[in-house]
Amino acid sequence: MENSTTPKISSLIAQIQSNDKLSQLLDGINFVPGDTFYWNYTDCSVTYNEHSKDCIPFFLHEIGHAILKHSSYNKDVELLKMECSAWDEAKKISNILNINIDDNLIESSLDTYRDWLHNRSLCPKCDTTGIQKTPKTYYCISCYTKWNVNEARSCALRRYIKYSD
Ligand SMILES: [Zn+2]
Ligand SMILES: [Zn+2]
Repeated sequence: MENSTTPKISSLIAQIQSNDKLSQLLDGINFVPGDTFYWNYTDCSVTYNEHSKDCIPFFLHEIGHAILKHSSYNKDVELLKMECSAWDEAKKISNILNINIDDNLIESSLDTYRDWLHNRSLCPKCDTTGIQKTPKTYYCISCYTKWNVNEARSCALRRYIKYSD
């Protein structure tokens, strides 16, 4: 990646706030430094980790969730759609701001996400792919086991799982 022009997060936020179109789209949304990347629909806040190597693209990704007003979901497949559309939105914003987001980063992030969703859909007893009953429960049609999954709202949680193995 020859991306020597990647701005610092503070100057990126200043750039967003001085852009008419973006400041309108993001009116009322707070940017909060933290140790994760997270869009909170209830608080209207985007949390970002300024120490992350890929802070800028992941920050723009969360901004994408914010602009699209993503809130709750019923099935994991809906989450995947939200992830894709948040990246699409992040790309649009990056074009406005003249920033390059590496497509490989997006692809690997979505792949990680798919893997993560796939793994949680597997029955812990017999490895059959289960059926999702509620946002937090799966059910195995082969051995009738039921299992719970975590609420999947933090994009960083997915990446944490990826990097922790
Ligand atoms: Zn996301
Ligand atoms: Zn099973």
